[in-house]
Amino acid sequence: MPYSFIYDLTRLSQGVLKQVFESAYEARLHKVIGRHTKKLVQTFKIDEATGLNLADAITLVEDLVEVQVANALQRQSFEKADCKALLLPHCARARMDKRCMADFDDDVPTYNCQGCRDGCLINKATALGKKRGYDVYVIPGGACVEKILKVKKYDGVVGVACGMELKMGLRPLKKLGIPGQGVFLTKNGCANTNLNLQSLERIL
Ligand code: SF4
Repeated sequence: MPYSFIYDLTRLSQGVLKQVFESAYEARLHKVIGRHTKKLVQTFKIDEATGLNLADAITLVEDLVEVQVANALQRQSFEKADCKALLLPHCARARMDKRCMADFDDDVPTYNCQGCRDGCLINKATALGKKRGYDVYVIPGGACVEKILKVKKYDGVVGVACGMELKMGLRPLKKLGIPGQGVFLTKNGCANTNLNLQSLERIL
């Protein structure tokens, strides 16, 4: 049955339409995720496999899905970016003490990896980012993102972090209208964290 009204969507800008779609999609998704995450965690025994309690496992899966959805929504705009930054977590350094030869630049803020260990994940991820033309920052936490974005203007940002930090980092990006892509750490913590270099390569 046809509409009983006439509409003209050309009166709305493409930008407004995009925002409407994204907000509606996110809202619906949150509802769906909220309803089904517990079932997903139980079905795939994610709590048992990770050793997390049920509530923490649910939070983890919710955040994983949220980051994937945000990546998908922003991918098109991100791919158009020319000047891009890669933000890596300092906790993935092979050494967290003086054996790490990276010097810390407080003004930016970032650790500047000196490539002292071939097997260091930060060394490998830095090389990957630079090869793809990214400015690479190795940062102590999501709170540094705002500072970095003030130092230089970027039109695309990739962040590697745990879900909490990724969500925190997304806020300033959203405020500035910069498309972002997140890569979830495969193991979190304050040290010896892990990231999947193949996943990072795919995102870059
Ligand atoms: S390779 Fe870089 S990040 Fe890793 S320990 Fe050496 S200086 Fe630190």
